Amino acid sequence: MRARIAVLPGDGIGPEVIAEAVKVLKRVAQTYEHEFTFQEALVGGAAIDAVGDPLPAETLQLCRESDAVLFGAVGGPRWGDPRAAARPEQGILSLRQGLGLFANLRPVKVHPDLLTASPLKPDILAGVDLVVVRELTGGIYFGQPRVEGSERAVDTMVYTRAEVERIAHVAFRLARGRRHKVTSVDKANVLACSRLWRHTVDQVARNYPDVELEHLLVDAAAMHLLRRPRDFDVIVTGNMFGDILTDEASMLAGSMGLLPSASLRGDTFGLYEPIHGSAPDIAAPRSPQLWGDRGAIANPLAAILSAAMLLRYSLRLEAEATAVEGAVAAVLSQGYRTRDIAEEGKQQVGTREMGDLIELEIGN
Ligand code: NAD
Repeated sequence: MRARIAVLPGDGIGPEVIAEAVKVLKRVAQTYEHEFTFQEALVGGAAIDAVGDPLPAETLQLCRESDAVLFGAVGGPRWGDPRAAARPEQGILSLRQGLGLFANLRPVKVHPDLLTASPLKPDILAGVDLVVVRELTGGIYFGQPRVEGSERAVDTMVYTRAEVERIAHVAFRLARGRRHKVTSVDKANVLACSRLWRHTVDQVARNYPDVELEHLLVDAAAMHLLRRPRDFDVIVTGNMFGDILTDEASMLAGSMGLLPSASLRGDTFGLYEPIHGSAPDIAAPRSPQLWGDRGAIANPLAAILSAAMLLRYSLRLEAEATAVEGAVAAVLSQGYRTRDIAEEGKQQVGTREMGDLIELEIGN
């Protein structure tokens, strides 16, 4: 098949890890005889430096004309002044809004050889394989904030039935391809929005009699995520609860460098990015002493697994997506580790070497 992929590397380790993800996609195209074209564009701090705007109009236009977007990360101390008119983070927020990406998918799967990389006990983590589906364009982050002098501030949370319905459908459809279970997370004992959320999810569930539905209050969900993470399959929740629970869930895997994400709208179009930021503490050339002879040290697996999600959700290439995920699992099983997941007795590799190993493994 032919596909046009917009590549937005961004700042810090963004360009380092995205280079490896593109390398892997090129290998997939070669092995499975597809024609992928990659077009790079500016975003974040790099775009502010070049043209004074974190999301230049040409970048948004390129994304709109593409089948999918591969995104690195934005931000860093260089653009850290909170008083600045243009901030790198505006790049990703405007992109999600401009492209109508309302569903954020974050899978968390714990590789059996990395059970000790997490602060949690290995027997709790074994077999964890869940996806958090977070509503991304509604709720309290998109309300009408109001500051009343120095004594009072107000935020508003709004959800419409249509917004809840469309995200619930994403979660149920996803569960059908997995273990047929959806956990909806809300705060229905307190919030009116959550009662609408729960009622609407119940109604949507009637279309999916083969999928089990459970409701959890967000405080209980936060606890169960640490106590029995293996029991979760698909978790669906609103914008703010999703923001918090996805970070909590990321700790299960041991390193931010391992976790991919997808932001989707109703059709096949999507934006794919590692969940981590630009990691200025390890990005070149800021830490040459960490680099050694090997070059960059960031873990490119989150970016590579994001590329696998791109193959699955935007290009509908399931076998190719599975091949990339299989290659990642195989290379970890062979004992190769980047610095963030280094272990005694395992072979430590740099960013590029890790990308090379995955590339070699595909098609094997
Ligand atoms: P971060 O995710 O960049 O880094 C947190 C820690 O994890 C750091 O110690 C870092 O070295 C490590 N880490 C992250 N990714 C790694 C990888 N692939 N391999 C190895 N180690 C990795 O979060 P932060 O330090 O809070 O933020 C740094 C900058 O990134 C800030 O400017 C922030 O605004 C931005 N940020 C951007 C995004 C995004 O672009 N979507 C997301 C989060 C943070």
